[in-house]
Amino acid sequence: MRILAENADRAKILAGGQSLVPMQNLRLARPEMLVDINGIDSASFVMVDSDVLRIGALARHIQVEEARVPGPLGGLLEEVGRQVGHLPIRLRGTFCGSLAHADPAAEWCALLATAKGNVVARGLGGDRVIAADDFFDTAFTTSLALGEMVVEARLPVLSEDWRFGTAFLSRRAGDFAVVLVIALIRVVEEKVAEARIGLGGVSDRPVRARSAEAMLVGERLNRELLEHAGRAAADGVEPLGDLHGTAEFRRHLVKVLVPRALSNAWGLG
Ligand SMILES: Cc1cc2nc3c(=O)[nH]c(=O)nc-3n(C[C@H](O)[C@H](O)[C@H](O)COP(=O)(O)OP(=O)(O)OC[C@H]3O[C@@H](n4cnc5c(N)ncnc54)[C@H](O)[C@@H]3O)c2cc1C
Repeated sequence: MRILAENADRAKILAGGQSLVPMQNLRLARPEMLVDINGIDSASFVMVDSDVLRIGALARHIQVEEARVPGPLGGLLEEVGRQVGHLPIRLRGTFCGSLAHADPAAEWCALLATAKGNVVARGLGGDRVIAADDFFDTAFTTSLALGEMVVEARLPVLSEDWRFGTAFLSRRAGDFAVVLVIALIRVVEEKVAEARIGLGGVSDRPVRARSAEAMLVGERLNRELLEHAGRAAADGVEPLGDLHGTAEFRRHLVKVLVPRALSNAWGLG
C-alpha cells in the first residue's frame, strides 16, 4: 500500500493484466510503474461470511463463477461468470480488477450494481466501504482515490425467495456484450415483492431500469407485462452508439432483452 500511495500519480496496480496489458499494448495506458499484487496469496479468497459473499482482490473470475455459493446467488454467479470473455481470461483476470477497470459493458460491474454490492477500498488512511451506486463514476472511471486499492468486493447472499434471469447479446462468443441484462425478482406468494433490473452496455456505467422495476412490484408476471417493462426500460436509457452497435440498436436490445431476462427469472419459458 505504501509503494502505491507514494507513487499514486504514476503507478498502476497489476492484477490479472487482462485489461491493463492490452491497453499498454495499444499505448492507451502508459504507467511509469506497475505494482504487481499477484504475490499476495491471502487476497485470493472467495468466502461466505454470515450473509455476505466476500471476494478478495486476487480472486480470479473462474473462482467466483465456481464458488458454489448457497442459494440463488451461486447460480447467478455461475451464469454471469460464464459470459466474461474466454476461459484463459477467466483463469487470469480478477473480479475486483474488473470492477476497478469499470468497463460499462462488464458483467461483474452490472452484477455489483444489480445485487447492491459494495467495494472495500484501502488507502494509507484506512478502509472505506463504497456502495455500487457510488463506485462507478463514468466509463473506466471509479470513485477510488489516487493510491487507493480495491481489497474486497461484497455481495449480499440472496435468500431462497429470489429468482434470477439474464440475457446477453455479443457479436461473437467471448466478446463483451453489446447489451446485457441481469434481472433479480423476489417472489412472495406468487407475486413480485421486489425487482431489480441491471443493464450493461447502455450508458457510461451500469444502470438500473427503475421504471420497469416499479411496474412489476405486486404483480404476477405475464408476457404482456414483460413487454411493457421492456418498453419502459428502453424509454429510460440514452445509449451511446459505437462500432459495436448504434444507439438505436442498443435501445432495441434493451426492449427485447429485458423481457427475456425477466421471463427466465419468472420461469415463463
Ligand atoms: C479478449 C478479451 C475479452 C474480454 N472479454 C470480457 C468480457 O466479455 N466481459 C468482461 O467483463 N471483461 C472482459 N475482458 C476483461 C477481463 O475481464 C479483465 O480481466 C478485467 O476487466 C480486469 O481484471 P484484471 O484482473 O485482468 O485487471 P488488470 O488488467 O490487471 O487491471 C485493470 C485495471 O484495474 C486496475 N486494478 C486491478 N486490480 C485493482 C485493485 N484491486 N484495486 C484497484 N485497481 C485495480 C489496474 O490498475 C488497471 O487499471 C476481456 C479481456 C480480453 C483480453
